[in-house]
Amino acid sequence: MTLQIQAVPAFVDNYIWLLRPQNTRECIVVDPGDAAPVLSILYRDALSLGAILITHHHADHTGGITALQAAFPAVKIIGPSSARIPAIEECVHQGDSVELAGLPFQVLEIPGHTLEHIAYYLPPGPWCPSGAVFCGDTLFSGGCGRVFEGNPAMMLASLEKLQELPGQTLLYCAHEYTQANLRFALTVEPDNPDLLARVEQVQRLREAEQPSLPSTIALEGRTNPFLRCHIGVVAESVARHSGQSIADRVTTFAGLRAWKDHF
Ligand code: ZN
Ligand code: FE
Repeated sequence: MTLQIQAVPAFVDNYIWLLRPQNTRECIVVDPGDAAPVLSILYRDALSLGAILITHHHADHTGGITALQAAFPAVKIIGPSSARIPAIEECVHQGDSVELAGLPFQVLEIPGHTLEHIAYYLPPGPWCPSGAVFCGDTLFSGGCGRVFEGNPAMMLASLEKLQELPGQTLLYCAHEYTQANLRFALTVEPDNPDLLARVEQVQRLREAEQPSLPSTIALEGRTNPFLRCHIGVVAESVARHSGQSIADRVTTFAGLRAWKDHF
C-alpha cells in the first residue's frame, strides 16, 4: 500500500498534512488549523476523512476540527491529553501505537513549545520506505519552535528525541519557516557547507513555489543549529554573541533560542 502525503497550505505559512493512502478513499489529516482548504481537496477528489491527528493545542493547528467533524461525523479525533483541546476523543501518550488505514503511527511526547505537544512517527514500510514524522511546531527545517510553555532543557530533550529517529526519516513540520530559519543558521555557522547547499536547494524550491518540506532528520542534523548545540562551532558562536564563555548543550540551546527570538 502506498501513501501520498500532500501539503495543504493554510493561513500565511502553515502546512496541514493530508495523508492519502492509495488503497482507500479515507484520508487522515494532521493539524487542520483551517477546514476550508482540506474540505475543498476532499470534495474535489471525492475523498472522505477517517481521522484527525493533532500535535498541540494552538489554534493554527486545531481551528478546523469542528467544521471537519460536522462534514464527516464519523471522523476519529486523536491527540494529546489537554483540557485546551476538548474535541479530542482519543488521547494518546508516549509509546502508544495508533493504527489508521493500515498505517502504524507511534506517538512521541515532545514537550517544550507547549507542554502537551506530541509527534506522530510512521516507521518505514510499504506506505513510506523512509518513514515519516509529523512534528508540529517542535522541529522546523533549519530551526525549532519557540519555547512557550516548557523550558530550554525540556525543549532540547524533545529535539534530541526526534533526532534519534533514523536519519532517512522524512520530517513534516507544520510551517514553512525554512528560509528565515536558514538566514539565522548561516549567521551562527557561516562556513557550514551542508548549510550553504541547503540554502540554495530551498531557494530553488521556493522560487518554484514548492514547499521546502519534507526535510529529513539527517539533513537537519547537518544544517539545523538547534540540533547542533553539541558542535563546537555552534557553542562558540552563541558564546560570542552572548558575551559569555562556552557552555554546555542546554545553555547553548537557551542562548541560541534567545538569539533567534530577537533576530
Ligand atoms: Zn504552535
Ligand atoms: Fe503553529
